Amino acid sequence: MQHGAGSVDKPDASTVSSGPRDKLGRRMHDLRISVTDRCNFRCVYCMPKEVFGKDYQFLERKELLTFEELGRIARVFSGLGVEKIRLTGGEPLIRRNLEQLIADLASVPGLDLTLTTNGSLLTRKAQALKAAGLKRITVSLDALDDAAFRQMNDVDFPVAKVLEGIDAATAAGLAPVKINMVVKRGVNEVSVLPMARRFRGTGHILRFIEYMDVGHTNGWRMDDVVPAREIVERISAEFPLEPVDPNYQGEVAERWRYRDGGGEIGVIASVTQAFCRGCTRARLSTEGKLYTCLFATRGHDLRALLRSGASDDELRDAVTAIWTMRADRYSELRSEQTVKLEKIEMSYIGG
Ligand code: SAM
Repeated sequence: MQHGAGSVDKPDASTVSSGPRDKLGRRMHDLRISVTDRCNFRCVYCMPKEVFGKDYQFLERKELLTFEELGRIARVFSGLGVEKIRLTGGEPLIRRNLEQLIADLASVPGLDLTLTTNGSLLTRKAQALKAAGLKRITVSLDALDDAAFRQMNDVDFPVAKVLEGIDAATAAGLAPVKINMVVKRGVNEVSVLPMARRFRGTGHILRFIEYMDVGHTNGWRMDDVVPAREIVERISAEFPLEPVDPNYQGEVAERWRYRDGGGEIGVIASVTQAFCRGCTRARLSTEGKLYTCLFATRGHDLRALLRSGASDDELRDAVTAIWTMRADRYSELRSEQTVKLEKIEMSYIGG
């Protein structure tokens, strides 16, 4: 059941579909699209105010891929075997008229469409997102204690509003809602058990994410990481857990369920149990750069191709060439040296 390095050496015949393979035999299954590099939160570990202050140069409107360009890209990737698209950011719900993009992407046959949000605008937007064709949603929530939450988002945003947003998403039918909590040692690890208690039996799927060395502005140290194993043990001591098989090859979350039927949780052990061997994710930045790893230092400019009049076949060939050259396995190679690399920021590429 582990997704640890080396546990998924060969593609699983039952999930194989057409499309390019990279140098480690991995197909493209997921595409994450960042629709904005802006966010209304300044989470201290992701967009610290000292870096992302009022003088920070965000992308200009003309640099962003348009919805039309994104629709074309989505269809090209779908033709290359991508079955799941996640919209992210920055905060995706602050991109104006996002529902229009969702409606377009929802019309691509066979595509599982989802979105990751900080939940701050969900109460207002959940119904419209559902009506546009969004299937599911993931909400990031790092603490239940209001003071701790306000401190983490660093814009004094109350936790009650995010909880309200989760309820609105559930009522709109965007269920099961996944709730992602990044756990940082000494900062919000005390919230692990309260979060488990709060969401047990609600039908929501709570997932704990190891704090990662993405970007180079968050001053990451290995000591900040609370290993997923420790999180499972802590929760299991109060509510016994048992492992569940992955939904599909390459799924990042290791799944666990409460033995008493209280539902399911997940842990994403990207640091302590790197799952590069099963990684089937491509990432598109807001300005149309394709990255083949969350920890990449360089992307491939698809916007230039799009805007120079490339045909769909040419786009398909370019993406195939990029994917077939891919050999990334950053998390397996993580070391003192790699941590110092000038990697792209999480707020730019999306989680
Ligand atoms: N604004 C949206 C949100 O809050 O979900 C989408 C973008 S946000 C960058 C996506 C996810 O990345 C959030 O759950 C955030 O907590 C997570 N994240 C940011 N920095 C991280 C880090 N260093 N390690 C692990 N997760 C991180």
